Amino acid sequence: MTITIDKNSGFCFGVINAIKAAEEYLKEHHTLYCLGDIVHNNEELKRLTGIGLKIITPEQFKNLQHTTVLIRAHGEPPVTYKIAKANNITLIDATCQVVAKLQQRIKSDVENNPDTQILIAGKAGHAEVEGLLGQTKENGKVISTIQDLENVDYSKPAKLYAQTTQNAEKYAKFETKIYKNYRKNNNEALIEIHNTICKRVSNRAKEIKEFASQFDAVLFVSDNKSSNGLFLYEICKKQNPESYFISSSNQLNFIDFKNINTVGICGATSTPVWLMTSIAEKLRVG
Ligand code: SF4
Repeated sequence: MTITIDKNSGFCFGVINAIKAAEEYLKEHHTLYCLGDIVHNNEELKRLTGIGLKIITPEQFKNLQHTTVLIRAHGEPPVTYKIAKANNITLIDATCQVVAKLQQRIKSDVENNPDTQILIAGKAGHAEVEGLLGQTKENGKVISTIQDLENVDYSKPAKLYAQTTQNAEKYAKFETKIYKNYRKNNNEALIEIHNTICKRVSNRAKEIKEFASQFDAVLFVSDNKSSNGLFLYEICKKQNPESYFISSSNQLNFIDFKNINTVGICGATSTPVWLMTSIAEKLRVG
């Protein structure tokens, strides 16, 4: 059997930087707190908690004092920095530079044009979205579904931004609909649409489609917690019905590899390369 690991799968640079920052700190200290999952992948979390990373909730964060906490790639709202200052918490800020730039952009929009509605297309409650909303001084709205567009005031200016990991097809639907609604009100000059989906994510759908079509079977390695993973798996499955979603090598036992000569292994931006490699090894050994 020929096994190929997709060279484009694996952590994005934002996640790589956050993990590197945690590993560096843990070389010299026993413990490091991280506000929320550093990556949406249980196997990688197990590895990192094994070397001293402790994942904490926002509630637990509020109760900490005089310690060090890592901010993951998704970023955090300003209130987190305020709490850290008040509680004498040193932050290792691993907010991805792409997310940090988007936060800055929204912050300056709100400062310069306080009447403009800031619309963030993304998943309600997602850490990155919360971080972006935090810059809007309560003047932001999350757009998760087409129905959410009914809450926009079409007589007032608005700027539409995307969560960096937003699904491009879904975002295109929001763009079309919001533009139409403004147009209906003869106010199309009032809407500004910005495509702020991270390039590392927007190219993946096309790449994964091409990859999946080359093999008899595809093992898509991810975690149920990764929405980007679930979305990319759907694309794989559509392209190649012999696609399987697995989270660890233990699940290989449930797949029938009879008549399968070529296998492609791929994953999301939250899938560690070591995990794909260990799955390939296990498959080779049989
Ligand atoms: S997906 Fe893009 S924006 Fe998000 S953390 Fe990774 S590199 Fe940064």
